[in-house]
Amino acid sequence: MTLKEMINDCSRIVFFGGAGVSTESGIPDFRSADGLYRQKYSVPPEVILSADYFYSHTEEFYQFYRDKMLCLDAKPNAAHIKLAEWEKEGKLSAVVTQNIDGLHQSAGSKKVFELHGSVHRNYCLKCKKEYSAEFILNSEGVPHCECGGLIKPDVVLYGEPLDDNTVQGAVNAIANADMLVIAGTSLSVYPAAGFVRYFRGKHSVLINRDETPYDGACEAVIHSKVGEVLESL
Ligand code: NAD
Repeated sequence: MTLKEMINDCSRIVFFGGAGVSTESGIPDFRSADGLYRQKYSVPPEVILSADYFYSHTEEFYQFYRDKMLCLDAKPNAAHIKLAEWEKEGKLSAVVTQNIDGLHQSAGSKKVFELHGSVHRNYCLKCKKEYSAEFILNSEGVPHCECGGLIKPDVVLYGEPLDDNTVQGAVNAIANADMLVIAGTSLSVYPAAGFVRYFRGKHSVLINRDETPYDGACEAVIHSKVGEVLESL
């Protein structure tokens, strides 16, 4: 069965994606050859993006975060656009993403479970007032609320738990899907990567440039660029 035939055969597709879904929009991923983890920093990105580092080295955290994680000029690519179309046509029930860039929503997707939060939500740790990503980008040093409290991005840092409701929604969507499309993820960040194991439906396909630990468990594996593959359908 071709990928197109599988998609035509299904009406509750769930897309599970990661940083590789946004590389074609110009946002670097973490683990590719040109990803952020291969660039040389005096402190590794996985340390900078941890809760411990956020609270102990807040200024350095924000330097890295503004420089590398806030890509506010990026536009949705062919993958984001195709998924939004499938949702409109009633073929796709949800996007489950590990990304924090908000590009699925920019493309028009409505049902998006953001397992690791979003750069577009930021809040004061003291009074809970919300701030935009633009506010963070244009602030200097450590951003503070008008009440004096520290502002934190609503992203899940290493060492922080995932949001219960988001996990529940994502797992339910995957467990009730008739097709699972996994794409642009190394499937190495847990617990998120483990959620694909809740899938019990008809067809599963993995679209990823590099191999993943889940390649052997899917009906079809395509080692190509996800935007190009989805655009061709
Ligand atoms: P990862 O960097 O570990 O892996 C990305 C995978 O995508 C790699 O296996 C690579 O081969 C593949 N890939 C890259 N470009 C691709 C393309 N065009 N088509 C198909 N495959 C492609 O990413 P991950 O598994 O998502 O885990 C990293 C964590 O980093 C996530 O938790 C995420 O929150 C965070 N992150 C998010 C963004 C973002 O929001 N855009 C960017 C970087 C990192």
